Amino acid sequence: MDTESKKYITGVIRDKAGELGFDLFGIAPAAILSENGEIISQWCAAGMNGGMEYLSRNIAKRIDPGLVLDGAKSIIVTGLNYYTERKQGGGDIPVVSRYAYGRNYHDVIMEKLNHITAIIGKLDESANSRTFVDSAPVLEKAWASRAGLGWQGKHSILVNRNIGSFFFLGIILTDIALEYDLPAEDLCGSCTMCVDACPTGAINNNRTIDARKCISYLTLEDKTPLDDGMIESLQGRIAGCDICQEACPWNRHAAVHNHPEFDIPEELRSMTSGDWLNMTREDHQRIFGNSAISYRKYEIFIQNVKKVTTALVNKNA
Ligand code: SF4
Ligand code: SF4
Repeated sequence: MDTESKKYITGVIRDKAGELGFDLFGIAPAAILSENGEIISQWCAAGMNGGMEYLSRNIAKRIDPGLVLDGAKSIIVTGLNYYTERKQGGGDIPVVSRYAYGRNYHDVIMEKLNHITAIIGKLDESANSRTFVDSAPVLEKAWASRAGLGWQGKHSILVNRNIGSFFFLGIILTDIALEYDLPAEDLCGSCTMCVDACPTGAINNNRTIDARKCISYLTLEDKTPLDDGMIESLQGRIAGCDICQEACPWNRHAAVHNHPEFDIPEELRSMTSGDWLNMTREDHQRIFGNSAISYRKYEIFIQNVKKVTTALVNKNA
């Protein structure tokens, strides 16, 4: 493809991403992420992936986009802001992470990405593309950093200098060459605020997290109920954890999202500790059935809700 065509197609894709409401956009050239492969292997060997065994499989595939899409040349990365200050009540109310408030982001982003791949297909009929949202075969944060969307903070999450870190990533792998963005600069410097704020000491010193200690993992992925001895350290978190992100100075002026599908439902916002303690299977389905945490089974969720809420009620009595 000549330079003019590349420039034209890149411009059309970029404009379409803006039209679709993406807050961030960038493109990186495909490459093998050898350094990331070593870090993942060591992380898994140390058992830090907890029960997420799938993360230790197919590492060669995960670091080589050419093994995911034959002839992959470009990685398109999008960011969708979900930051809000409209949250649940405090005190004795168990806390849900912001990302789980609204509609399941996988669906929202996938719909938008499919519009972009359709445009690519129209512009170049021979193009092959694949879309990914939060899925194991693609190292989203590494690509997002290379595509200039932000840098991987010490808490391992991507941070953007303008909108902070509360945003979802979406990826398109395509086999056409495009114009590329420059990687983002790392602006953590000597800051350690996320590391200091983490109540369970889950943040390692190489921009990875020990999942076995991370509240996000323990409340949403772990197959066993929360250990009674750790309830105090959860700071009321019951589904995910925003503590390290809330501590980050780059989120002090985080832009509030303008995607109504991610707004907190009024029912979730106004729930009392009594509502949480008495949550039925039907309530759970109604409140979280379309959210990104719908996969978390009621049986284990309610056990954890009762432990965390009871501790909060006792503390606030
Ligand atoms: S999500 Fe919570 S538990 Fe996990 S690293 Fe961040 S602060 Fe620590
Ligand atoms: S809190 Fe500090 S160290 Fe952590 S991600 Fe933000 S800037 Fe980086």
